[in-house]
Amino acid sequence: MPKTAEVVVIGAGVVGCSVAYYLAREGVDVVLLEREAIGSGASAHATGSLSLLGAEFNPGPSFEMARASYAEFKWLVPELEAVTGMDLLYQRRPSLRLALDDDEAGLIRGMMVWQQSHVKMRWIDAAEVRSIEPRLSPSIVGAVYEDESAQLDSYRFNLALARAAELRDSEILYREVTGLLNSGGRIVGVKTAAEEIHCGTVVVAAGSWSHAFAPWLGFPVPVRPMKGERLLLNYPREPLGVLISSPKRGHMISRTDGFLSVGSTGGRDYDRRELFLGEEFDRQPTESARLELLQRAIDVFPDLERAELVQQLAGSRPLSPDAKPIIGPAPGLEGALLATGHATKGIHLGPITGRIISDYVCRGSTRAVSDMAQFLPDRFAGVTNADFLAAAAGVEE
Ligand SMILES: Cc1cc2nc3c(=O)[nH]c(=O)nc-3n(C[C@H](O)[C@H](O)[C@H](O)COP(=O)(O)OP(=O)(O)OC[C@H]3O[C@@H](n4cnc5c(N)ncnc54)[C@H](O)[C@@H]3O)c2cc1C
Repeated sequence: MPKTAEVVVIGAGVVGCSVAYYLAREGVDVVLLEREAIGSGASAHATGSLSLLGAEFNPGPSFEMARASYAEFKWLVPELEAVTGMDLLYQRRPSLRLALDDDEAGLIRGMMVWQQSHVKMRWIDAAEVRSIEPRLSPSIVGAVYEDESAQLDSYRFNLALARAAELRDSEILYREVTGLLNSGGRIVGVKTAAEEIHCGTVVVAAGSWSHAFAPWLGFPVPVRPMKGERLLLNYPREPLGVLISSPKRGHMISRTDGFLSVGSTGGRDYDRRELFLGEEFDRQPTESARLELLQRAIDVFPDLERAELVQQLAGSRPLSPDAKPIIGPAPGLEGALLATGHATKGIHLGPITGRIISDYVCRGSTRAVSDMAQFLPDRFAGVTNADFLAAAAGVEE
């Protein structure tokens, strides 16, 4: 007899594990399949920054989704910590979004026009920035001060979601999915080298590798890898009291374990000529990224000359042609849902994705976001390489 489950989730990154956990909380019988290790894709390499202020979230459903997911962390983190006993290094603090030149100031202030009706924030001048953190560069021209952003350790978060799903009777199997089973136009299971698993619904949450499922879904799954690198530093002085980011120079965050995270490459700040060169799924840390990230960090925070490099991380983010996630039913096919394409925001949007997918499975639709149209898989037609390049240039982290 083949193995069976109500739902098979493919991929144990933050997105797949969130989906598995939210389904398990609803009492659904889940098998989660991972071909390498939990978090081995992009998820273990991420900063874990949870911020509503970046260029990735636009007014409307995109911002609504970001805000809803941000709110999920407030109950989800304590719940996961309680059931797993893990410390997710979650912190909620004020943030500064810095402008180092007039261009950045214009960009940040332009976004403030609509953001300030949703988020408590205000523009502060250079003198006030330096009164909050005197070690910041004198070339800063101003910043948005926001009452609260958050950050956690994305790998611990990923592991905790997986463990908590197991504790609610989900099964995690280390297998590569090599095909989907179709019966009369409906997906009815998955194939691995070892076995077939029959199920009512398959959720493709395979991050940058989701594209490989196109032949069985009869849908191109427009997702490409967008490499990103970041650094962990040992900075043996007083940690930063605020979470710091800037549109062109990325983030700088003192983590609760004492390390300082700086990054990331990819998106707007990256050399566009290099964006899709080299190995498609290149996850090697590079010297050029290390030097660039250190220089950018020192531009913002000159005292980092004293810091020591502890770790350099590299991962492959799943980028869709409009840099928004692809969540919902595979077009023209019963029994298959997609949860991918989260680009630079998969940690932040993991929980809401779990909620949306569990709504589709358990109730056939979702109210987690008022208008799902701009996230549904069927929104794409005639995608070109230029769409991916434009999408990559518009994201920040
Ligand atoms: C440097 C860097 C910094 C980042 N910072 C942030 C941040 O601060 N905030 C934020 O929200 N996001 C951030 N991100 C983005 C975030 O990491 C991604 O959006 C997110 O991890 C995507 O999660 P995922 O589960 O979709 O994919 P992944 O984590 O890549 O997981 C996909 C999984 O599917 C598995 N898989 C693939 N094919 C198969 C198959 N055939 N069978 C079985 N398993 C399969 C893979 O092995 C992998 O484990 C960052 C990313 C990088 C690289």
